[in-house]
Amino acid sequence: MTAPRSISVLGATGSIGASTLDLVRRNRADWQVVALTANCQAKELTALAREFGASVAVVADESCLPELREALAGSGIEAAGGAAALVEAATRPADVTVAAIVGCAGLAPTMAAIEKGRTVALANKEALVSAGEVMTAAVARSGATLLPVDSEHNAIFQCLSGNSIADVRWITLTASGGPFRDWSLERLQAATPAEAVKHPNWSMGAKISVDSATMMNKGLEFIEAFHLFPVGVERLRIIVHPQSIVHSMVEYRDGSTLAQLGPSDMRVPIASALAYPARMNTPCAPLDLAAIGELTFRQPDEVRFPATRLAREAAVAGGAAPAVLNAANEIAVAAFLDGQIAFTRIVQCADSVLSRGLPPPPASLDEVIAVDLEARIRARETMEPVR
Ligand code: NAD
Ligand code: MG
Repeated sequence: MTAPRSISVLGATGSIGASTLDLVRRNRADWQVVALTANCQAKELTALAREFGASVAVVADESCLPELREALAGSGIEAAGGAAALVEAATRPADVTVAAIVGCAGLAPTMAAIEKGRTVALANKEALVSAGEVMTAAVARSGATLLPVDSEHNAIFQCLSGNSIADVRWITLTASGGPFRDWSLERLQAATPAEAVKHPNWSMGAKISVDSATMMNKGLEFIEAFHLFPVGVERLRIIVHPQSIVHSMVEYRDGSTLAQLGPSDMRVPIASALAYPARMNTPCAPLDLAAIGELTFRQPDEVRFPATRLAREAAVAGGAAPAVLNAANEIAVAAFLDGQIAFTRIVQCADSVLSRGLPPPPASLDEVIAVDLEARIRARETMEPVR
């Protein structure tokens, strides 16, 4: 029997956190859990920390620490809270650190794990989108291993294996098109938060579900791919594939296209990252293509869904643009979920913050965070309530 591998899960109480811990639960003897974190959710975090015998449980929101401490009393599990504690937990030695916090809030702990040269299974796309070159330079400097968990990027990573990036003709990201794929512009204006979070294929956290509905998720993924797979923006494209079975594709210069297929279950790409470069079991049903019957593809409609155009422009502009786009989007999505703005205002808000001019390119983590904070202020300013 091989020795258990150690794992930390940043964002343990979320959707990706739950899928990760489900795999750990099914292979309990293979894993030793180091750090589990949440924003607050002290009760849920305590239950997970106790179940998995974690060394430390951390709430990012320090006001939730007393509750966590009390709940963990006598367990022998360390309780900690606040931004510095989150970063400290992220740097604890672990064979794999799963970055599954939502939003730019996950940037500092993810960077901390990278700076330590760890193997980071990255779900937290906003961190890479915001930090871009700052993060990829840190990976190169520290010798960290970044394993993409986002299903598209995990698919591309698998399709690139054993090949040379210089031979790539196209990388094609597939997009489900989200719950409003076939809605008219008029109908989109009146889309409600409840409708937006009801994704047809995937079960995910609220923020990424709204991003899927606006197609900003695909826009962020375009920028994520731009950093993970250095083929240049002109070799990256997006295709709508409503069934979410083909998770992305790589076409080579000889005309061969490699694709990765699988169920719409995040446990598949998570397992691929956790076991890398080996494979592990998942409880997912085998792919039954005959039952699925048809796989269809179509061009994205950037008139109804301008987010992918905006993201492509931000990737080309580089510098602070992706961090500004991401920050404005995070604020606008939160405002939409809160009932303050209409659905179609989300991408308009990001667009107007971007078009107000950009700060200089951030060259360090602190500078990225400063750009992010400034863009959040601007985004709040641009949002006058429309209903
Ligand atoms: P979620 O909302 O379900 O969970 C987010 C986790 O982050 C929770 O544990 C929460 O407590 C924690 N968190 C939230 N705000 C925080 C803060 N300010 N500071 C510290 N921790 C905080 O989100 P999710 O759907 O699991 O997504 C997590 C990340 O993975 C996102 O970046 C998302 O884009 C990416 N992702 C998710 C999926 C999916 O299927 N859910 C697929 C691909 C990529
Ligand atoms: Mg994805």
